Amino acid sequence: MPVLVLWLVLGLLGGGLAGHFAGGHAPAGVTVAALAEIVLLLSSIRHLRRAMIASPSFSPPTHDRFMTRTRRIASSLRDLRSAAGNLPDAVVLLDNEQHVRWFNHAAEDLLGLRRPQDRGSDLHERLRHSDLAGWLEDGAREPLNDIPAPGRPDRHLNVTLLPFGRRQRLLLARDISDLTRLEQIRRDFVANVSHELRTPLTVIHGYLELLDPEDVPELAPVLGEMRAQSKRMGQIVEDLLTLSRLETQEHVSDERVAMAPLLATLRKEAEALSQGRHRVVLESTAETDLLGSPKDLHSAFSNLVSNAVRYTPAGGTITIRWQRQGDGAVYSVSDTGFGIPANHLSRLTERFYRVSSSRSRDTGGTGLGLSIVKHVLNLHQARLQIESTPGQGSTFSCHFGRERLLGPSAGDEG
Ligand code: ADP
Repeated sequence: MPVLVLWLVLGLLGGGLAGHFAGGHAPAGVTVAALAEIVLLLSSIRHLRRAMIASPSFSPPTHDRFMTRTRRIASSLRDLRSAAGNLPDAVVLLDNEQHVRWFNHAAEDLLGLRRPQDRGSDLHERLRHSDLAGWLEDGAREPLNDIPAPGRPDRHLNVTLLPFGRRQRLLLARDISDLTRLEQIRRDFVANVSHELRTPLTVIHGYLELLDPEDVPELAPVLGEMRAQSKRMGQIVEDLLTLSRLETQEHVSDERVAMAPLLATLRKEAEALSQGRHRVVLESTAETDLLGSPKDLHSAFSNLVSNAVRYTPAGGTITIRWQRQGDGAVYSVSDTGFGIPANHLSRLTERFYRVSSSRSRDTGGTGLGLSIVKHVLNLHQARLQIESTPGQGSTFSCHFGRERLLGPSAGDEG
């Protein structure tokens, strides 16, 4: 190493001197100096190589070893490329200007890219007629779910854009058509079964109503139980049909939902359900109405009220609130009831999920109420928040954004 340093210093000195002696013409001097430096550097490298070879610990790669290693790396690269090329998901490699550098076979099929003309093309420009264009333009920060494939309108995709390297991107498009189809089959099945059960249940319920327990007093308790169960089954079927409708619906009607009369109705419903066993309080401070479906919002709000009454022992308090919060507004129902252990909270909105099946059944629950609430809120771009302390009570809050508010305080009279 010191030999190299010595030669380098000599080289630089030599170059400087050569430049100096080349005379007053600066550029010519610089050129001569640079040439001299290159010559001296090359000879330094030759010297260093000789010194390294002479060292006892040095074993230079032989030509064969070098070639074997190169072949192995090239073969790994080929394997990787072929694996990525044959992935069932579309993969597109983009440079820092979103131009296509490479894509696999699935990208040809699902995204409609063509070889070789789309290599180097602007992806945004290339897909400008699909849902992907707007998403790419907005920065593609969140994955894009369930969109028709630009190259195959019969297929559905989930698309993600992953950053890597120096401002490069990897576009991954997963074909979720089979999943979507299965989900559709499940939805249709539930909707069809519920629909088919509706008529026979109505008939059974009708006949049970016709039977007079006084005619056969010994069967009176059985008749009472049969009536209660057929009513419960009817309610489950109605709730399943409501859920099926909400699941397939993409938008809700944009009507004014007058909150003052709705809150008064909800309070009356709570009192009717409680039959004097609870104190029902209404606190309404938000002077604003909602924009959405009056029927669906009533159903969601009423589910929360009914739960509060059913899961609060006699003597408790149910508080219905409607208040402004930031830009938006919150509808909430608080109770002083049994409460819910924290480990159940995240699963409460799943169909038929119950903290205690017997308590739910005894109070006439179908296990579908909170699923309905969640779907209705999703359709209104609202969010459900659940806070609860076992033994003390729960609060279920529905948070609405400002775009769903109507009224003087929202600056929009609709
Ligand atoms: P259900 O018809 O069983 O009430 P929901 O979907 O409305 O079905 O509620 C799911 C479960 O959440 C209930 O079974 C109950 O265990 C729990 N739950 C809902 N609301 C309350 C509440 N206010 N207090 C305590 N538990 C509740």
